[in-house]
Amino acid sequence: MKKPKKRKKSSPLKKLMNIAETLWKLKAKHRDGNRCSLCESTKILQVDHCFSRTCKELFLEIDNATTLCASCHTKKSFSVHGFDELVREHVEKRVGKDRFEEMRAIYKKNAPFDWTFDKLEKKIQELA
Ligand SMILES: [Zn+2]
Repeated sequence: MKKPKKRKKSSPLKKLMNIAETLWKLKAKHRDGNRCSLCESTKILQVDHCFSRTCKELFLEIDNATTLCASCHTKKSFSVHGFDELVREHVEKRVGKDRFEEMRAIYKKNAPFDWTFDKLEKKIQELA
């Protein structure tokens, strides 16, 4: 049997990135008691990026992570019933105003940022 040819091989950097993201999710869920931070549901938990995942620098930041159930996460993503504001308030309360503003500044600045092996290894140690 021939192997399927279409599947793209993931680069080693991408693989390490996936490991780091998995750890980031596990750490967030553990910190949040494996419950949705808004409604306390324990079903279908996901981890939300308070400041969008498009910001690479905050992508693996544990302070930027919030455990949400799929339902609350969808509402947050589409700004239904002010759920995005609720998540922001929750994060600000959890990390403190200074840290929240620090993250907001990083997000707004949106400086070029690339994950390298060195940066990822450090981050993985921090998350492990
Ligand atoms: Zn929920």
